[in-house]
Amino acid sequence: MPISSALSLKQLLKETKRDWDHDGIPTNVRENLWKVMNCGTAALGAEVFASPTEIKIIYHTCKSRFCHSCGARSAAIWQSEVELAIPDIPYPGNQSHDATRVLAYISAESSFAE
Ligand SMILES: [Zn+2]
Repeated sequence: MPISSALSLKQLLKETKRDWDHDGIPTNVRENLWKVMNCGTAALGAEVFASPTEIKIIYHTCKSRFCHSCGARSAAIWQSEVELAIPDIPYPGNQSHDATRVLAYISAESSFAE
């Protein structure tokens, strides 16, 4: 089957499902691909909110780190938590990479302490 260059990840997974959804692929990989393919759809369930005038259905997300949507959200939350845990101190060099360098320094110190 020819694959269009403009496919979304979900579309790609749906169109190639027979290539990855079989016993030759590890179960955890298949489960993650299935969750990503169905992220935000009724297949993963939903919450229904209702008022006298309106009903709103919020479909569950997959929470997989491999999902471009859920994984990016998880990474942003993790980055915020790390930034809060790191002291706000100046570090020479490229300002945009300060947090990464400080993390590497803390990690190296931690391994010497053990
Ligand atoms: Zn997702």
